Amino acid sequence: FKVPTPVNEPVKSYAPGSPEREELQRTYKELKSKQLDVPMYIGGDRVYTDNKQPMVQPHDHRHILGHFSEGDASHVEQAINAALAAREMWSNMAWEHRASIFLKAAELLAGPWRARLNAATMLGQSKNAYQAEIDSACELIDFLRFNVQYATDIYRMQPESSPGVWNRMEHRPLEGFVFALTPFNFTAIAGNLPTSVALMGNVVVWKPAHTQVYAAHMIMELLQEAGLPDGVINLIYVDGPTTGDVVFSHADFAGIHFTGSTGVFQNIWKTIGNNIHKYKTYPRIVGETGGKDFIVAHRTAEAKQVATAITRGAFEFQGQKCSAASRAYIPSNLWDEVREYVIEDLKSFKMGPPEDFSNFINAVIDEKSFDKIARYIDNAKESNEAEVIAGGKTDKSKGYFIEPTVLLAHNPQYITMCEEIFGPVITLYVYDENNWEDTLELVNATSPYALTGAIFSKDRYAIEYATKKLSDAAGNFYINDKPTGAVVGQQPFGGARASGTNDKAGSMLNLLRWVSARSVKETL
Ligand code: NAD
Repeated sequence: FKVPTPVNEPVKSYAPGSPEREELQRTYKELKSKQLDVPMYIGGDRVYTDNKQPMVQPHDHRHILGHFSEGDASHVEQAINAALAAREMWSNMAWEHRASIFLKAAELLAGPWRARLNAATMLGQSKNAYQAEIDSACELIDFLRFNVQYATDIYRMQPESSPGVWNRMEHRPLEGFVFALTPFNFTAIAGNLPTSVALMGNVVVWKPAHTQVYAAHMIMELLQEAGLPDGVINLIYVDGPTTGDVVFSHADFAGIHFTGSTGVFQNIWKTIGNNIHKYKTYPRIVGETGGKDFIVAHRTAEAKQVATAITRGAFEFQGQKCSAASRAYIPSNLWDEVREYVIEDLKSFKMGPPEDFSNFINAVIDEKSFDKIARYIDNAKESNEAEVIAGGKTDKSKGYFIEPTVLLAHNPQYITMCEEIFGPVITLYVYDENNWEDTLELVNATSPYALTGAIFSKDRYAIEYATKKLSDAAGNFYINDKPTGAVVGQQPFGGARASGTNDKAGSMLNLLRWVSARSVKETL
């Protein structure tokens, strides 16, 4: 059978006076004025504990959004048991019935849930309305719809048969439960990681970042409204190491769907390796991790286009996108112009809380991130290897605000050219315009990551050369465009090297990791 052909959800503009803007503002105010008491969801039950943790607004940390119930190791056990109890029913449910739950979730999100999840993302993660819309509405809707199409394509993949023999391939769910571990920065990722796994018939234990509980809670409520049966996805709020101890030593652990930092993923991989003898099956390990995403301009590039890619690519959502541009290589002939455009463009970036829709820059996620980013900026202020050429002010008195900051490195190996900062900081390096080939070598060798990267040029030979030279330097490569903003169904997303297993979220490649294929030969 055919499933509804997926199309990318159109982005709403939230223009002044538009009905969608009024609805979003109203919902934002309503949620802000409430104090939510957020439970975990285990086996369909709402589970409350006495260990209440505050849900903080990054842009106004004195005003909390309510509390969530934090659990302990016993809740992780309960979540695993609930998942395993649901497994038989869920994995045997006819595909069209599983799929229709996620298509229904997409419809609810495109309609009545849109403003709620967008407002939750604005309040809990400090995203502006546009950034919330392209994340928690459009991208999550796209994941839900396109994954149904990709799953159908997988189930249709069948081997050849011959007269007297019928060969078949069964794409079965994994034997056990899958652990979904999600980062703070994208509501769409939080929604996609557990649902893509569940779509293929698997049962899931899902642990979001503590700074993302607010949106995660809404997603779970949305899935319940869409008809997700009890126990298929179990949402727990337990600290990472405690959860890991229970999950990674369980015999039925069948895989992890992770997005987060490289260090955490590498430790998880080691733990799984050390426990490998305990598992019934080799667990699937899928992780999308950190980045040090680049822009390289050739001497033929257009200065204004490069400058816009720098300011948009580096500072949307305060640079807290794994794809955010964080190092840029500018040829000497374009430098004066690029610098002028960047500084001019930054003047239009207003900073403040997301409830004022004209604020482009909001707060970074929490105090730990704020302090880490501020240390990098302070280091640049004190170093003779770099200087601050724009921004650089930080203030955490009310919210965790950091000005969009542009550094100029005198040494291309300066620390901020190499390490992931995950904040509104980009470092520029000016190279001799005749050193294109050497500069590409430098780009390739400077960082262990390979997530996103962009080159700008009007010279087709230069474009071809760079595309080849940087073949392994980015899982998502852009020619004459900024390195952020991948769209489901158009630019499948994921990085290699220290940036991840490159299983391309929102693609058939990813979904194939969540099935175990049985090849059946029947002699007729
Ligand atoms: P993080 O690694 O701190 O946390 C990710 C998840 O792991 C959270 O749920 C966290 O609670 C959990 N965790 C942390 N320590 C753990 C431990 N010891 N054991 C088990 N679980 C643990 O990441 P974050 O700060 O939430 O997100 C930012 C990071 O995510 C950045 O490095 C960014 O580049 C990356 N990211 C990558 C992509 C991608 O597609 N490549 C997308 C988004 C974010």
